[in-house]
Amino acid sequence: MTPLLSIRDLVVGYDGVPVLHGVSFDLVGGELLTIVGANGAGKSTLLKALSGLRRAMAGSIQFDGVDITRWSPARIVAAGLVQVPENRRLFPASTVMENLRLGGYVRRRHRAELAADIDAALEMFPILAERSSQRAGALSGGEQQMLTISMGLMARPRLLVLDEPSLGLAPVLVERVLEHIHQLHQHGTTVLLVEQLADKALGLADRGIVMKLGEIVAAGSAAELRNDPSIRQAYLGNV
Ligand code: ATP
Repeated sequence: MTPLLSIRDLVVGYDGVPVLHGVSFDLVGGELLTIVGANGAGKSTLLKALSGLRRAMAGSIQFDGVDITRWSPARIVAAGLVQVPENRRLFPASTVMENLRLGGYVRRRHRAELAADIDAALEMFPILAERSSQRAGALSGGEQQMLTISMGLMARPRLLVLDEPSLGLAPVLVERVLEHIHQLHQHGTTVLLVEQLADKALGLADRGIVMKLGEIVAAGSAAELRNDPSIRQAYLGNV
């Protein structure tokens, strides 16, 4: 079976200096893969390369059998590889509702589906329904994070890439977001998840990857990684 995502020997850096030193892994359709690693391991850099926001210096990225290594971010999103960024990239001067519609822009011709997806987003995060006519820039940090995640889902991704979805959220909302990611996965969405709450995130995952200093240092089933004492101690915050 062709993997949905196939990364080979990927080298990515800043100003010509590599910070990813030849990363390779596959993601099969329907899987939930969690990437774990300390600060500075290169997780965000990897995700930026997947989304076309950072050019690869070497190596390749294939999505559904097609080489997308040199594609523009817009073309990558249109193909169904959608990233929810860590830094709440939304349109602050537009309303919550307008932002949700913009999230579904690549599917703007499917009006009935879009309306249903907006309803689903507002059901997941009822506070967004209350704030639907407010400017996104006036939302709290946690509310902006909820909106950013909802905008990503509006694109109905084939591969949903999430960078630290729990960041800035109150614990009850973290649980809600993780539960929603779990449900998306159960319904067949392929998910690549980077999350500081590594143990929780691995708890949802089929497989995990551990990154350190721009390299993959461990990979396996989520259960294997969670049961490995050295990984528990180094990355999961307990023994
Ligand atoms: P965190 O968990 O802290 O977000 P991360 O695993 O996502 O960390 P990256 O943000 O990908 O790690 O950073 C990997 C390395 O790349 C770090 O050494 C960082 O200093 C460097 N780096 C990241 N962004 C830039 C940039 N814009 N310019 C130069 N170096 C950068």
